[in-house]
Amino acid sequence: MRKITIVGAGQSGLQLGLGLLGHGYDVTIVSDRTGQEIREGRVLSSQCMFGTALAHERVLGLDFWDAECPAVEGLAVSVADGAGGRALAWSSRLDAPARSVDQRVKIPAWLEEFERRGGTVVLRDATAEDLEDYARTSDLVIVAAGKGKITDVFARDSTRSPYDQPQRALALTYVTGMAPRPDHTAVTFNIVPGVGEYFAFPALTTSGPCDIMVFEGVPGGPMDCWSEVTTPEQHLARSVELLREFFPWEAERCADVALTDAGGVLAGRFAPVVRKPAGVLPSGAPVLGLADVVVLNDPITGQGSNNASKCAASYLASILEHGNRPFDRAFMEQTFARYWDYAQYVTAWTNALLAPPPPHVLQILGAAAQSPVVAHRFVNGFDDPRDFFHWLMNPAATEAYLADVTG
Ligand SMILES: Cc1cc2nc3c(=O)[nH]c(=O)nc-3n(C[C@H](O)[C@H](O)[C@H](O)COP(=O)(O)OP(=O)(O)OC[C@H]3O[C@@H](n4cnc5c(N)ncnc54)[C@H](O)[C@@H]3O)c2cc1C
Repeated sequence: MRKITIVGAGQSGLQLGLGLLGHGYDVTIVSDRTGQEIREGRVLSSQCMFGTALAHERVLGLDFWDAECPAVEGLAVSVADGAGGRALAWSSRLDAPARSVDQRVKIPAWLEEFERRGGTVVLRDATAEDLEDYARTSDLVIVAAGKGKITDVFARDSTRSPYDQPQRALALTYVTGMAPRPDHTAVTFNIVPGVGEYFAFPALTTSGPCDIMVFEGVPGGPMDCWSEVTTPEQHLARSVELLREFFPWEAERCADVALTDAGGVLAGRFAPVVRKPAGVLPSGAPVLGLADVVVLNDPITGQGSNNASKCAASYLASILEHGNRPFDRAFMEQTFARYWDYAQYVTAWTNALLAPPPPHVLQILGAAAQSPVVAHRFVNGFDDPRDFFHWLMNPAATEAYLADVTG
């Protein structure tokens, strides 16, 4: 039986580990936290996942929360007019619902399921030296440690990483009591050009249904304002203040919000980065990076957990197809190239959204307010961002598309 060790029990590591167990592999997952520590800890993500990524979980029988977790039925876009109102406001439905299950709910349950299906969990904050041990005793070592320090064993790919500094000041606030939208549930995607973005959507947390607020502030601007916030209560108060000042139409929904729990807040920042897929240890043994370890995007497009699911599914297919051949560096590079064939588009689109919207993108957002066809295509691009490259990512393609739709 081939033995695979995965460092990191997050979306990607557990999904891949569970997939491999189903095909008879001997799988060990190294986790730096117990399920209970994760459940009782702080939120780390808003983890809204669209139809294709959810389908990869469903195939593995891991969609435990479809009945309890509120469906996100669409996307609602608003662009501020600079005078307290909205220049644009429209919404459209997703073809398949999205869902956000708090990782504090999902990961402990998947860890238990992983052991129930025969996997081994080792509790350890793995070091680079540990990787040498795992490489000696496993056929393949995969590092799925997200933003953990151990990712230093993977070199930055500067040709694919245009930014070396964080592009947004990030904050999350998990709340109850947010008033629902009138027509359907949605990710509300609000943009104040030059200042930042605010998203909100329903989710499932440890205490039941909630809404998640996501703040993306341009560094140095008025939404980059979390450094002096020290308590969860102050974090909530600051969240509501920001809504009143920059997103008053969203503040109206938040008159009665309360924090889900003291761990339901987060503030931080990181620079997006693409890394080389194979980390080479001092002994010369290669280890393979998975998901955020190799492609870490800003959360502005809400793609990280989606990418983690898609990367895990793509690597599973590559490992199965590789059969009994050695998992050498060439295998690792080919495996990543297959995933990058998809992820490069998500990365380019996400990095483009971090820059001020160019005129043709504003033109599309305006056209979507008039045309349900355009709105529907934009919204469903979040499930498969490759589609944007056919009509949104350059002015000529946009012009041709709009002529086609409106002509
Ligand atoms: C503010 C914010 C909002 C987000 N919102 C969304 C969203 O709406 N939609 C979306 O799709 N994505 C979102 N994301 C991104 C998404 O959460 C991540 O991309 C996704 O969780 C990555 O999965 P992963 O498996 O690569 O890593 P992770 O989920 O980070 O899992 C890595 C695991 O490895 C563990 N670990 C780290 N180092 C070690 C070690 N040395 N030894 C053992 N274990 C280790 C960590 O503790 C963690 O449990 C958001 C991210 C942020 C920061």
